[in-house]
Amino acid sequence: MTDIDKIKSSNKFMLELDEIKKTPGYPSEERLNKGPTAVIECVEEIPCNPCETVCSKNSIAVGKPITNLPRLVDQNSCNGCGNCVVRCPGLAIFIVDKTFSEKSTALSLPYELLPLPEINEKVKALNRNGEYVCEGTVHKVRAAKSLNHTNVVTIIIPKEFTNEVRFFKRGKK
Ligand code: SF4
Ligand code: SF4
Repeated sequence: MTDIDKIKSSNKFMLELDEIKKTPGYPSEERLNKGPTAVIECVEEIPCNPCETVCSKNSIAVGKPITNLPRLVDQNSCNGCGNCVVRCPGLAIFIVDKTFSEKSTALSLPYELLPLPEINEKVKALNRNGEYVCEGTVHKVRAAKSLNHTNVVTIIIPKEFTNEVRFFKRGKK
């Protein structure tokens, strides 16, 4: 059984990081170190493919059947534009920029709560299970109808937590 087959047959609500990193939408560490890129954490085999159709760089493929897990077929063509983030109904795509600064990563994520956070606001950065990881700082907030009514918030986090943090809560620890 391949790693992907094991993931498909898993009944767990949330996969562990080492399992998610084996899915076809997760870029290599080499690619992550080159600059902003989409990180796709879609592990549900559902009939869905807006991530594929919206990407003008043809970086993502779902193909046929439409229940395939999305693949980052050309990691180097992805420029981190974020168009797939706002089109994904599963809130399963993030933009990760490990080159933001020497010690920090910029993580852009879909954010559905209101009110929106303020620029420079300190927030609690959380892992995939909603557990506190570290402090984050809001860097950018994008909210526009042109973004498919999906708000995108960019937070800055310590680089060592790049693969851990995937959400945040407002307020300090
Ligand atoms: S971030 Fe932009 S270029 Fe990269 S996969 Fe998404 S839509 Fe394509
Ligand atoms: S749009 Fe989102 S939920 Fe749909 S296949 Fe792509 S990553 Fe998965």
